[in-house]
Amino acid sequence: VCHLIWFRNDLRITDNKALSSACVNPQAKVIAIFTATPQQWLAHGVSSRQITFLHQNLVELQQALAQLGIPLICQTMPDFTGAAQWVLDYAKEQHADALFFNRQYELNEKQRDDWLVKQSHSLHIHAFDDALLLPPSTVNNQKGEMYQVYTPFRRAFITQLTATDCRSLTAPEKRGKPLAIECTQPLFAHVATDISPQFKAGEQAARHQLRQFCRERVQNYQRDRDIPSIDGTSQLSPYLAVGVLSPRQCFNRLQAENPQLLDYPDSGAFTWLNELIWREFYTHLLVAFPRLCRYQPFIQWTQHIQWNHSPDDFDAWKNGQTGYPIVDAAMRQLNETGWMHNRLRMIVASFLVKDLLIDWRKGEQYFMSQLIDGTLAANNGGWQWSASTGVDASPWFRIFNPTTQGQKFDPQGTFIRHWLPELKNVPDKYIHAPHEWAAANHIQLNYPIPMVDHKQARLNTLEAFEAGKRNS
Ligand code: FAD
Repeated sequence: VCHLIWFRNDLRITDNKALSSACVNPQAKVIAIFTATPQQWLAHGVSSRQITFLHQNLVELQQALAQLGIPLICQTMPDFTGAAQWVLDYAKEQHADALFFNRQYELNEKQRDDWLVKQSHSLHIHAFDDALLLPPSTVNNQKGEMYQVYTPFRRAFITQLTATDCRSLTAPEKRGKPLAIECTQPLFAHVATDISPQFKAGEQAARHQLRQFCRERVQNYQRDRDIPSIDGTSQLSPYLAVGVLSPRQCFNRLQAENPQLLDYPDSGAFTWLNELIWREFYTHLLVAFPRLCRYQPFIQWTQHIQWNHSPDDFDAWKNGQTGYPIVDAAMRQLNETGWMHNRLRMIVASFLVKDLLIDWRKGEQYFMSQLIDGTLAANNGGWQWSASTGVDASPWFRIFNPTTQGQKFDPQGTFIRHWLPELKNVPDKYIHAPHEWAAANHIQLNYPIPMVDHKQARLNTLEAFEAGKRNS
């Protein structure tokens, strides 16, 4: 008996439903496969950082599997169509009886799997819902439809979660002698990109970070999570994005450290669970509304907004040269590390859309090209929330003031000074408006003046949204 386990964004041996099922029969020969699809990744705008991180984790996975006696074969095919065909051919070649995988929920991924199931003939397909705490389409309102407002979704979600067996699975038993691996070549060709040392590859690193966060920092999460100069959040998103860590592992570790968490909605632990549920909400939405995978807004009238197409404005935002320190520091953090604090993601997204009136899809795409933790669901969800085009989004007339956001969340400018050393001598009081200080003291700053007047930009945006609504 031969079982193939097809790894995707679930690069772990612990708590992996497809892998565990493939290993249930101790007699079965188990072969792990992974398909690298560079053209598909390019079409999806995946960042080279994430591809490097994925590769690093695949190398770790190969070693962990080898310890269990399971070989990992990596095949490069241009796109999903080629990958699915190769999997079927390889299964035939190996006389495999069954193929195991965990489902992915984005449109192209689903189409690939549907096609494969149709073509599989005598090959038994075992597909699992493993990437979420609760599978898409299982948390519905009384009409049996997906919620379009987050809070009732969360309420229903928690009720269902408490009635569900969410225990994490242990890694499968060894199936023979450990295999020797000669790692002389990369598992697939890619442009290796620097990854911040904070994101060390491998399950052990991820689990260690999770444990530490749940033990030491989650209690203060509610207090610290909006302050970008503090390590107040878990920074686990890159691991969740490529599946080195599962959401069940997160939930179980959180509960182990905070057994009463569901009874204290004001606690740090509950607030963190809430963020994990936002991750679920956005993924459930992709399945319920596939148009979200097709560059379309959820709120249709927003298609009629006339956006500003200025490449110079877009470049200034991308390069952290807007003259608004909190925006620029955030963009430099993104460009340098591939990760950005959540509060800052909201601030820079709002600035691009509502101060510069640039189409949110351009920002979404640019984020994807830089993020180590990029996922279609959360990135699209975050952008559509910020742009007021999405499900349960921020109302369109609510516009962040980038100066007061900075004053509120980085009052002393600690974060700003870290990323904008050209402002290191500006006193705290002026750190959010450095040119006022420079002008008063006849100092030349090597930093741009604000590229737009926020008050005026706000009025222009309100007008553009109103016109879009009128013209729909
Ligand atoms: P924590 O605060 O520790 O949260 C724990 C986990 O919950 C995160 O790792 C993440 O998996 C999940 N999570 C937290 N907040 C959200 C949220 N608002 N929506 C969905 N899931 C969430 N998150 C991504 O994982 N990938 C993205 O591509 C992405 N793009 C975003 C774009 C914009 C414009 C915005 C506003 C948010 C985006 N987010 C994205 C959500 C959020 O900013 C990140 O998940 C978070 O900053 C990651 O840091 P952390 O792991 O320390 O989060």
